Amino acid sequence: MSTPDVISIGYLVAAVLFILGLKALGRPRTAPRGNLLGATGMLLAILVTLLDQSIISYGVLVAGLALGGLIGAVLALRVQMTAMPELVALFNGFGGGASVLVASASFIEAVDLGRADNQLAVAAALTALIGAVTFTGSLVAFAKLQESLKWSGFGGIQIFNAAGMTAGVVLVVLVTAQPGEWAWLWALVAVGLVVGATATLPIGGADMPVIIALLNSFSGLAASATGFVLENSLLIIAGSLVGASGLILTRIMCVAMNRSILDVVFSAAPVAVVGDGDEIYEGKIASTSAEEVAMLLETASRVAIVPGYGMAVAQAQHAVRDLMQTLQDSGVEVVFGIHPVAGRMPGHMNVLLAEAEIAYELLLDMGQVNPTFAQTDVTIVIGANDVVNPAARTDPDSPIAGMPILDVDESRTVVVIKRSLSPGFAGIANPLFAADNTLMLFGDGRQATLDIVAALVNA
Ligand code: NDP
Repeated sequence: MSTPDVISIGYLVAAVLFILGLKALGRPRTAPRGNLLGATGMLLAILVTLLDQSIISYGVLVAGLALGGLIGAVLALRVQMTAMPELVALFNGFGGGASVLVASASFIEAVDLGRADNQLAVAAALTALIGAVTFTGSLVAFAKLQESLKWSGFGGIQIFNAAGMTAGVVLVVLVTAQPGEWAWLWALVAVGLVVGATATLPIGGADMPVIIALLNSFSGLAASATGFVLENSLLIIAGSLVGASGLILTRIMCVAMNRSILDVVFSAAPVAVVGDGDEIYEGKIASTSAEEVAMLLETASRVAIVPGYGMAVAQAQHAVRDLMQTLQDSGVEVVFGIHPVAGRMPGHMNVLLAEAEIAYELLLDMGQVNPTFAQTDVTIVIGANDVVNPAARTDPDSPIAGMPILDVDESRTVVVIKRSLSPGFAGIANPLFAADNTLMLFGDGRQATLDIVAALVNA
């Protein structure tokens, strides 16, 4: 069998492994197998690419591996588990940036050698635009997830963005029509970089998860377009899989947020007026202790636990498992209410609870758990804030207005575990904390949960 045949068959098998891996990732039970299949596909793809000397020289490859490996190792050692969402946003951005560089270099070489046809020009132009948008969009998303970038908004940014997107489309046509005019290509990259940043800047609150899923999809689409430039079928397939799954995730997030993608991209979310919430909280906060919560739980027959970003910060998932176990041992029914955007990345809570070996069947999504809160004796909210904020239902000017929330306030008693009355990601006060049936247990999520378990055991 000739080398090109081996390469083609290797790419085909790798593509099949990617597809089977993605399918298996769709269910928690088969997800580990899905991961393994995908990783095997990637290993095969790398080995086969090494055979394909025409693509890259071994020297460049080893240098790239050493540099990338070094950066990856430093990041892996230094980045906290809680900063994973930011890191994923950064990786999306690097993927987009790499696509721009690789596709542009290949395109320039092809034009110089007189090999550039229309298909190549269209693919290179689309890569330049999508990759550049992904790069700066992801950097802005990174800063927003780190909460180091607060945007106070300026009027007209949506018009500016619409003009930028139109200019991008016009430049794609110009690059295709006049491939040798490098000014068009660089202008296209510049417009993409500006639009990526300015389109992501005004997005906040409930819309952030949607834009992160969209940028993830864009990084795949940019890779896929690069595959057309390099004439590499595996890159086309792998990029399309990332692009398509990112689009599906974007749709799921839009449905969860009750927003359309056009709403998210073209209408800036109302800017949060970050106040101290005094007018909502004054004189209405009832704080409690672990012992009091334990007494409440002793008489409960059904308990719901609602985790949020604070559970991830406190790394409280194992303490939460201990609490669940202790309650179940005394005959209490325990369920978990999982909001689709709780935490800082899709599936964040599911991953943490799975790590603590909490049975997947106990994790109820919003549609399943909401009708049951009225029959729930105690709901324990641990480190969640925006996803249980009733302002989403009642305040049309809120940055999270219209976002479906977990209706924990319908439970007989709500216990909220968090360190203070500070707001969550959307930066707004939460009337739930001042509700008549809410008790605040102030403290670190892990320690407070362990204290409740100890009080239950010692009772
Ligand atoms: P929030 O960000 O609304 O609130 C988290 C709360 O956790 C804070 O109010 C904080 O209060 C508390 N907390 C922090 N550290 C601790 C600790 N050690 N122990 C106990 N509590 C702690 O989280 P939610 O999960 O409710 O909502 C997610 C938000 O993130 C939504 O606005 C969503 O749109 C956004 N988002 C989600 C993404 C996703 O894909 N899931 C991506 C991007 C954004 P205190 O400081 O008082 O302890």
